[in-house]
Amino acid sequence: MTDIAATAQQLAEVIRRYQADYIEARLEESQTSHITYRGRELESIGRAVAAGGNIRALVKGGWGFVSFDSFDELPGKVELAIKQAQFVGNEVSQLAAVEPVVDSVPAGIDRNPVTIPLAEKKGLLDEYNDIIWRTPKVQTSVIGYSDSFKKVILVSSLGSNVEQAKADTSLRVNIVATDGSEVQQSGISIGSRGNFDEVQGLHRQVEETAQRAVELLAAPQAKGGEYTVVLDPILAGVFVHEAFGHLSESDFVYENDRLKEVMVLGKTFGDEALNIVDTAAIPGMRGSYRYDDEGVPATRTYLIREGKLVGRLHSRETAARMNEEPTGNARAINYRHPPIVRMTNTFIEPDKASFEDIIGDIKEGIYARNWYGGTTSMEMFTFSAGEAYMIRNGKVAELLRPVVLTGNVFTTLMNIDAIGNDLEMNQGGGCGKGGQVPLPVSNGSPHIRIRQCLIGGR
Ligand SMILES: [Zn+2]
Repeated sequence: MTDIAATAQQLAEVIRRYQADYIEARLEESQTSHITYRGRELESIGRAVAAGGNIRALVKGGWGFVSFDSFDELPGKVELAIKQAQFVGNEVSQLAAVEPVVDSVPAGIDRNPVTIPLAEKKGLLDEYNDIIWRTPKVQTSVIGYSDSFKKVILVSSLGSNVEQAKADTSLRVNIVATDGSEVQQSGISIGSRGNFDEVQGLHRQVEETAQRAVELLAAPQAKGGEYTVVLDPILAGVFVHEAFGHLSESDFVYENDRLKEVMVLGKTFGDEALNIVDTAAIPGMRGSYRYDDEGVPATRTYLIREGKLVGRLHSRETAARMNEEPTGNARAINYRHPPIVRMTNTFIEPDKASFEDIIGDIKEGIYARNWYGGTTSMEMFTFSAGEAYMIRNGKVAELLRPVVLTGNVFTTLMNIDAIGNDLEMNQGGGCGKGGQVPLPVSNGSPHIRIRQCLIGGR
């Protein structure tokens, strides 16, 4: 395999010989493995290595981007990226000023998950599958496991040379039960920053998930209408990411006049207790890193502080265009794509309320847990909770069929009237944007209570 460190060194020299407003090269080598079961059938299993890179150039506000799987004739690729940029550039280039960085960041794990034998991983999934399939009424199931170990090197005309190693693991289990007429499902989604231990020992959880899918067959459906709804940390975290976080991505704000009018810094979005943060600068989370894919150091960015909109997420370019500070949120899923503005670890900060405080004075409400799916369109969202219960006289009561929550994100943020003290981060799933999916992120929240939340149902 090519020594990408030596190639990066050569490219740093090559870049220096060319004229452009900015040039960077990002080289990557990766190992991955995956196993997929569909029902009892092993659908796919394998391990792969890959290496490649890209050149990105900026000339008069226009970008050129060339990606490659072969490290031959690199000067020609630099020239091509510059030519592309010259072809589209017709204004003044804008990039927020940052200091050049020279650093090397290890993956920070004891064991590269990809090197664990496939037989060992398959053995673990077989155990989970046995548990699923000894549950009566299971109709079908999917188990998807994947891991990766990557080394990425960025060199730029600014003089940066940043090497970062990153590992990732994820496990998704989906179980569908039927009694002949009804069909219900339940799932688990877990991820970690390359720590294989996190996906081990889930036997009990898999069993409970299978049983829940079966229990849902007999569960009643909530009556549709407005309720006081309590969200668990997983659903609240996904809500914050999907409904609000994406609106804080500055490329999106910059290109959308209506959103520019709505996302005005200083505007009140919620109660004083509401704080929403995005940060890659906390170690060990799936969205964590020391530098983004433009070599900008990770920051802790308050999006909402004490109820007011105070920040948003930036690449160097969006920061310059909007005259704000860069936040280190330019990320690319791999070397085939240019970095774009992305979230990292996004969460609602904890407040004081215990779970009992939150549900204690609810006469009739809904406790919605977990995430099953959903869509957003600007400020409107429709989310399916994976699991739901009635709340009656301050207590969690009967299990319900999964509920659908619908609303306007800004109204919903305003209607949050209690925030728990029990922050939990959800490391499952991944984020999609601009064809780059699934990007490792995490999101989280304490339990939160929302007044007048619309629940779909009978
Ligand atoms: Zn997303």
